[in-house]
Amino acid sequence: MSKVIENFGSMVFNDAVMRAKLPKEVYIKVRATHQNGKRMDIETANIVANAMKDWAIERGATHFTHWFQPMTGITAEKHDSFIEPGFDGRILMEFTGKELVKGESDASSFPSGGLRATFEARGYTAWDPTSYAFIKDNTLYIPTAFCSFGGEALDKKTPLLRSMEAINREALKILRLFGNQDVTSVKTTVGPEQEYFLVSKEMFDRRPDLIYTGRTLFGAKPPKGQEMDDHYSGTIKAPVKEFMEELDEELWKLGVLAKTEHNEGAPAQHELAPIFTTTNISTDHNQLTMEVMQRVARRHGLVCLLHEKPFDGVSGSGKHNNWSLTTDTGINLLEPGDTPFENAQFLLFLAAVIRAVDEYQDMLRISVASAGNDHRLGANEAPPAVISMFLGEEITEVLEAIERDGSLDSREKEMMKIGVHVLPKFQKDTTDRNRTSPFAFTGNKFEFRMLGSSASIASANIVMNTAVAQVLREFTEELDGVVNFQKALHDLIKRTIVNHKRILFNGNGYEDAWIEEAARRGLSNFKTTPEALVHYMDEKNVALFTQNKVLSESEMRARAEIYFENYCKVLNVEALTMVDMVRRSILPAASKFAGDTASNAACVLSVSPDSDTSYEQDVIAQVTGLISKTHKTVNSLADANAKAKALQIPEDRAMAYKDTVLPIMEDLRSYVDTLETLVSKEYWPFPDYGDLLFGVR
Ligand code: ADP
Ligand code: MG
Repeated sequence: MSKVIENFGSMVFNDAVMRAKLPKEVYIKVRATHQNGKRMDIETANIVANAMKDWAIERGATHFTHWFQPMTGITAEKHDSFIEPGFDGRILMEFTGKELVKGESDASSFPSGGLRATFEARGYTAWDPTSYAFIKDNTLYIPTAFCSFGGEALDKKTPLLRSMEAINREALKILRLFGNQDVTSVKTTVGPEQEYFLVSKEMFDRRPDLIYTGRTLFGAKPPKGQEMDDHYSGTIKAPVKEFMEELDEELWKLGVLAKTEHNEGAPAQHELAPIFTTTNISTDHNQLTMEVMQRVARRHGLVCLLHEKPFDGVSGSGKHNNWSLTTDTGINLLEPGDTPFENAQFLLFLAAVIRAVDEYQDMLRISVASAGNDHRLGANEAPPAVISMFLGEEITEVLEAIERDGSLDSREKEMMKIGVHVLPKFQKDTTDRNRTSPFAFTGNKFEFRMLGSSASIASANIVMNTAVAQVLREFTEELDGVVNFQKALHDLIKRTIVNHKRILFNGNGYEDAWIEEAARRGLSNFKTTPEALVHYMDEKNVALFTQNKVLSESEMRARAEIYFENYCKVLNVEALTMVDMVRRSILPAASKFAGDTASNAACVLSVSPDSDTSYEQDVIAQVTGLISKTHKTVNSLADANAKAKALQIPEDRAMAYKDTVLPIMEDLRSYVDTLETLVSKEYWPFPDYGDLLFGVR
């Protein structure tokens, strides 16, 4: 057998393992739980736990951990060993159903946004049987949800699972209206394409900004950036190739369907795309992928940067969230079908997504908002901060025809002859090459391109699932029990197109003209995280989440606070890092350089009084001028940061960071970057952009 096939999923307690290791009746119960999230009784859980433990110990595991996804955006774990005291001072290796199903965790060290009353520091982790357990670092990992003592969600998995339930419920109702009785569940599927940078560890270790913030806070442009377009899908350099091979191997063992590895647009930038799977698993796998990438990189003398904008002047990194809906009978609901009837159903789901994206464009924007992603969205290499949808020519024509009430040309008439006369049949659209659109239909799925590279994909998918579930519910209410279903359907689709076509845009999303046009259309354009976040608690958004039972109002309020807090924390660390680098390294280096240059000139003149010292004079004048500006600006930055930090209300604090701290950071950077072009490389305290971007050879 191929080694790849043999190794794939070898560290996962997956379906095949369960079938082999569990008694048949237990296996059947576990499968039902895996597919529908059905609760498992404790006897069954005991048997599963025991089988899991034996399997894990055979593979060298000594510990187990409940693995969860708190609001920090990364994962958390607390390891316990399997050992229990036995006779005669000997030990036993034990793992019970109770330990599998529920864990207790100190919630006080994770962001809770005030949900956890201070006297009640306990939180719970609860097994998520819809995602497989796996072994990593001699530890059995059990995917879990994380909530407070009172049952409120403190993580990203709980609302994601709730949102998947909501869309399952509502999509099934729609399918029933179309007379479909055999589908019993509808799941959202996701394939996230992950971008990242690789830099040499040696260079990384000498950049405090990369160490503390994940991005370069200073750095003059190197002679070469990405203007030659010679990196994208170019030949992969040997050290990177070795990294990618090991990464694939590690991910395959964990059952992650890593499929495509290639170079991206910027120098030192790369991408990994997995094969899509159920959203929940895909989210867990993306978290694992990010962790494993960083670890494997270290083993190759590299550091993997997941920040959205590690370098100014070259492309940032995002994550493309390919999203669709699949039935348990294997049908992709966003795939145009062969018959007009299937296409009617397809068009209804398409209309639902169009309306969901238009009505909840603010929530989608919020779901991708972070201090890091603010540097990317709207800068000419990522989608703009305005959300619009690209449908491609063919689907657009069909929608236009429906809107005009079917006055189609002869080719379209030809396609329309059959059966249900109101809806045309059309081919699968394959025209998507509009890479500027934030939300593109790509044949049988939607590709949401605004996600930041370091973010958990949970947030964006929670909003997608919930918004589409909400619209599907409203559609069902309108269509249920009508006398003429075809007509009602046609009217509904037509009305949806008319009411929401402002969100459709097939042109170039990078052009200023589009941003102006978008404003005329009334589309929102939140350029920064705080500007987006203030809309999180808008009445319609609270209604969306509460009505679909995805988040309660208090859970939302807590989240809003955490998001504001996170933004402030990032900017605070960035500001402090800048102050530290400038005061302790950059200013002393520049000053020493100016001083040494002055003594050199004096020395030359003392030997040869007629020498031309214009270089020395010019450079000293420029450098000392910049030193003075840098000095003043770094002091203002320290002040502004202290003032912003002292504000009590998270929203005010975030606004102060955006309005007062960030602009000073930009000024400071511009002075320092100019200094870098004047001060001798020998004196400059940090590796430069050339070293970082072209250092892996
Ligand atoms: P691109 O042109 O953007 O590179 P690809 O065709 O390579 O697009 O696919 C990108 C991603 O979309 C892959 O991760 C793939 O697995 C995923 N994908 C394909 N079909 C679906 C689907 N039905 N649901 C979710 N993701 C999907
Ligand atoms: Mg893509």
